[in-house]
Amino acid sequence: MAKKKFKAESKRLLDMMINSIYTHKEIFLRELISNASDAIDKLYYHSLTENLSGLNRDDFAIRLEVDKEARTLKISDNGCGMTQEDLENNLGVIAQSGSFQFKRENNKQEDIDIIGQFGVGFYSAFMVSDEVTVISRAYGADKAFEWKSSGADGYTIEEADKASHGTDIILKIKENTEDENYDEYLEGYRLQGIVKKYSDYIRYPIKMDMERS
Ligand code: ADP
Ligand code: MG
Repeated sequence: MAKKKFKAESKRLLDMMINSIYTHKEIFLRELISNASDAIDKLYYHSLTENLSGLNRDDFAIRLEVDKEARTLKISDNGCGMTQEDLENNLGVIAQSGSFQFKRENNKQEDIDIIGQFGVGFYSAFMVSDEVTVISRAYGADKAFEWKSSGADGYTIEEADKASHGTDIILKIKENTEDENYDEYLEGYRLQGIVKKYSDYIRYPIKMDMERS
């Protein structure tokens, strides 16, 4: 499938984000967990108002799974999921993110404060990843789709297999460089620490599966 280009604005912002704005790379996990939690919220509230059967509050969870050999970190949720259109609209246009919009209107010094207070969103995944794959199936849909991107050069979307609703975000973690350690994002204890630091308030269980590492 042909690779689609991010809108020009998005490309510029993505480059900026990956290369300069961010010093605290570890917050990518907070962003992805908060998106997972939002997606579960959406489905949960939907289930309450629409009286959907088969959805129990206790079944909702966020899962982290490391595969050290493959250098992947997977963040999964069983929330509302995304249709093909959602993937296109939500992940294809960076400038749409409210936090980015806000950041652009402020100068650099303020960025540093803003970073602590506001989300930077899904694209922060690229601070630690060579490639990001999103496999998602919207609740009630019978098809799943896979969004894949290795950064500013664009993304692809194609049909995929996924047994039930929700979203898997699979990060291909970067190789270490002289100045930057990325291996730590494949270490269970380190991930636990990041979760504790930034995501302690999340209302759904965050489970870590370290079996394959
Ligand atoms: P924000 O969370 O501020 O809206 P993000 O960049 O974090 O911005 O995410 C962009 C959008 O992508 C979200 O608003 C949501 O619609 C969609 N999205 C991201 N992650 C998920 C997920 N795990 N499940 C469902 N939708 C998601
Ligand atoms: Mg977000």
